[in-house]
Amino acid sequence: MAAAGAPAEGASAYEYDLVVIGGGSGGLACAKEAAKLGKKVCLLDYVVPSPAGTSWGLGGTCVNVGCIPKKLMHNAGLLGEGFSDARGYGWKLPEKIEMNWEDLVMGVQNHIGSLNWGYRVALREASVKYLNAKGSFVDAHTVEAVERNGTKHTLTAERVVIAVGGRPKYLGVPGDKELCITSDDIFSRATPPGKTLVVGASYIALECAGFLRALGYEVAVMARSIFLRGFDQEIAELIGKDMERRGVRMIKPAVPTAFERDGEQIKCTFKNLDFGVEMSESFDTVLLAVGRDACTFDLGLEKVGVTYDKSSGKIPVTAEQTNVPSIYAIGDVLESRQELTPVAIKAGIRLARRLYAGATLQMDYDAVPTTVFTPLEYGCVGYSEEAATVKYGADNIEVYVSYLKPLEWTMNHEEHNGEPVRADNSVFVKLITNTADNERVVGAHYLGPNAGEIIQGVAVAVKANATKADFDDCIGIHPTVAEEFTILEVTKRSGKSALKKGC
Ligand code: FAD
Ligand code: NDP
Repeated sequence: MAAAGAPAEGASAYEYDLVVIGGGSGGLACAKEAAKLGKKVCLLDYVVPSPAGTSWGLGGTCVNVGCIPKKLMHNAGLLGEGFSDARGYGWKLPEKIEMNWEDLVMGVQNHIGSLNWGYRVALREASVKYLNAKGSFVDAHTVEAVERNGTKHTLTAERVVIAVGGRPKYLGVPGDKELCITSDDIFSRATPPGKTLVVGASYIALECAGFLRALGYEVAVMARSIFLRGFDQEIAELIGKDMERRGVRMIKPAVPTAFERDGEQIKCTFKNLDFGVEMSESFDTVLLAVGRDACTFDLGLEKVGVTYDKSSGKIPVTAEQTNVPSIYAIGDVLESRQELTPVAIKAGIRLARRLYAGATLQMDYDAVPTTVFTPLEYGCVGYSEEAATVKYGADNIEVYVSYLKPLEWTMNHEEHNGEPVRADNSVFVKLITNTADNERVVGAHYLGPNAGEIIQGVAVAVKANATKADFDDCIGIHPTVAEEFTILEVTKRSGKSALKKGC
């Protein structure tokens, strides 16, 4: 029997060649590429408001509540730190420099608004039909789309791409959904966050804690275990120490057990995991950053037989194809793949080219570079020291390390709480090589300013299978911190000091 909405025998096609559910990084890229290749495409995007009531426009997580507002607020924090440097360079600045949260939020949201508009225009120019509607499967070739006002559309397509991304998890403890916010809410928050508790210890938690502190707020991070699981732990610990030095209080190891109103504040009761004792403290804002679930639970996946993880919502795929041949998935919904914008975009574009242009190039999820935008940024590509040790064996890896202080920081002689604002040797470079394979570089790590800009270039070399000799053969650009990658000499094995004195 033909599936509901399938074309009658002899008819040429479904209504669409492709329906994409989700208008974020991956969905937009895939839909536009397929349309560019001459296909008839419909894209659905729909934002369910957060428990705190926040909603946003077309573009998905990255544009509205992720990379873009995060990087802008991070930059606001860096600019604030820069005032301290500026004084050392002779700039005469007023003693009291103030941050206006409302102005910052307005600037960020205005920029996001222009991006939302730009995406709508881009879809129209690419001849992609856009519906601001929530999609779910009727069968393997049919999607029902429901607009906010209840208007329903039934769309048939030869293929469907799931690109619905993820949303923040809550803790499931009393008061969390009623009183706490998440990254979905912080970037458009109308009033200054004040004294803030950030729960979690990974990318989102540390980045948000970092920029809120740099903007001048009192910030505590509550971590149940290690910082930045999966990352090089030597560097994760350096980040934790650096954030403490900047005044972020670490409550660790601890987990919240309940939240309740305390006048204008939120009282967090939490359990110290070392001693099992319960304590409490009140905050103006509590931001939960304890991971994300894929938005696949109400897509009707069971109905069409798409396999997915019932706990995380993640979908396993082979070359972005699910177990149902007409249904594909890209981006944050994928099981065991990085949750990063460029990953979702590249997977979407490559999938469209394979489906519609005869291309064969697969998405390569190996050696994906990334940067954690903490106040001292951390960029990396390839294996952490721990992962390289497991993969190649401790005897087969060489770990080159160097600490340094950027030249730009040397003019700042200010102190904060008795410590230099710009400490010596607080920037760190680590290169990991496989000695059993001609000292091929299998991991590159950098903790310091402009980490994303620096690691992006290094990642091209690592992706191209560069060896330590290739790095050494490359002439550095002076005076930069990036040149350190071309002059690394001290190995951990040598036991020599990796600290720098002077230029
Ligand atoms: P999304 O961008 O989440 O898009 C999915 C879209 O589908 C959303 O608009 C959603 O509302 C919609 N949708 C969901 N269900 C339905 C449905 N049933 N019907 C219709 N539409 C639906 N990555 C980086 O690379 N660099 C960063 O610096 C970075 N910073 C981040 C900071 C934060 C705070 C967060 C939360 C994420 C960050 N990320 C970053 C991750 C990045 O945002 C995601 O990896 C990326 O957005 C994933 O793209 P996607 O297309 O899979 O999903
Ligand atoms: P992660 O899943 O990476 O980390 C979740 C954090 O929350 C961990 O520290 C975890 O601790 C903690 N946690 C989980 N459950 C609980 C609980 N019940 N109680 C207390 N703590 C808990 O999620 P994120 O939300 O930080 O990030 C999601 C993804 O978004 C990232 O993987 C990344 O790909 C992407 N992203 C990218 C950014 C970038 O490129 N700069 C920035 C931000 C996000 P534990 O380690 O003990 O499990």
